[in-house]
Amino acid sequence: MKSSFYQYSFESLRKYLADFGCRADQARLLFNWHYKKNKTTPCEINGLSAYTKKIIYSSLSFDLPVMDHVQISEDLTVKFLFSFQDGKKVETVLIPFNQKYTVCLSSQVGCAMNCAFCYTGTQGLTRSLKTEEIVGQFLAAQTWLTLNRPDDDRILNVVFMGQGEPLHNFDNVKTAVEIMLSQNGLSLADHKITISTSGYLPGLLRWKNEMPSVNIALSLHSPIDEKRSQLIPINRKYPLKDVIPLIEEFPQGKKRFVTYEYLLIRDFNDSEEDALQTAKLLEGTKAFVNLIPFNPFPGTKWQRPTDEKVQKFHQIIESYRIPVTIRTTKGDQILAACGQLKSSERNDAKTAL
Ligand code: SAH
Ligand code: SF4
Repeated sequence: MKSSFYQYSFESLRKYLADFGCRADQARLLFNWHYKKNKTTPCEINGLSAYTKKIIYSSLSFDLPVMDHVQISEDLTVKFLFSFQDGKKVETVLIPFNQKYTVCLSSQVGCAMNCAFCYTGTQGLTRSLKTEEIVGQFLAAQTWLTLNRPDDDRILNVVFMGQGEPLHNFDNVKTAVEIMLSQNGLSLADHKITISTSGYLPGLLRWKNEMPSVNIALSLHSPIDEKRSQLIPINRKYPLKDVIPLIEEFPQGKKRFVTYEYLLIRDFNDSEEDALQTAKLLEGTKAFVNLIPFNPFPGTKWQRPTDEKVQKFHQIIESYRIPVTIRTTKGDQILAACGQLKSSERNDAKTAL
């Protein structure tokens, strides 16, 4: 069986072609064609030698994930259901903002972390995505945009906030990020990519030495360990006292922050006391707080907080001079908002603990 072109970082493609004795410039031509021009067939590339063509046609495939379903919300958010070669499916979301888009990528089919408030978490982990399946979501979403909204088809930001815990699939997420950053590849700026984590310590320990300097977001959701553990079970194994000092070391450069996502759930973690403790925990750090009112999904017992509570929470954090925003909910009409993604297939589900 052919392996996928989209699994290779630029360096590894160069090496792959060099091992076959291809000319040194061939990897750059191929990367440019597929990532900058977003084409899926290599036949028309100027300068690609007949020998390289023969090698890549006989050994590599250029298939993208198959788009099973597209849903468009009134606010123009687009949710795709993609399926892969083994029939497994994930969702990917395009979120519009000022004529440009943020793409929200999935890193796993399901998730092993089993967070109490998350639709994805309720399905357990089926498997991690391969690099080409992560990059493929970006390219397939880009292709859809170019065809359907040619006047505003730029994807400017990438967030790993779809299904899955990205740091539980470290190697493949890292290679996908390298392809996105590569000057020959998608050429995105490093501050335009954000990886959100529930605080999976084994991945965070690798981050500092191995991950390119993209943004980190930590799903905090409560500064109080007991409460956080009820929401995010891995907090019992990897508590905040181990996670926060580590991630505070990541941002490089003056203007870089750590985003702390705080999911506000009615009468659970939305009180003034919760806000005060959060502010005290993050005071003096590189925190940027993003408040996310809970997005309900079928069968959940949790509820969205009142607007007054959200505003009060915001005000308290701000009074500690910590930058804070409230995430506007987009795409909830089609269950495309944070935490509402779920594959329609469910098999071999496993949980982390
Ligand atoms: N696994 C990673 C990234 C995917 S979840 C993580 O947990 O960080 C992306 C964000 O959506 C996280 O902050 C997560 O806590 C949040 N989220 C999950 N379920 C949600 C829901 N029902 N409503 C609002 N946000 C939710
Ligand atoms: Fe997984 Fe993130 Fe959902 Fe938790 S919130 S179950 S880590 S996807």
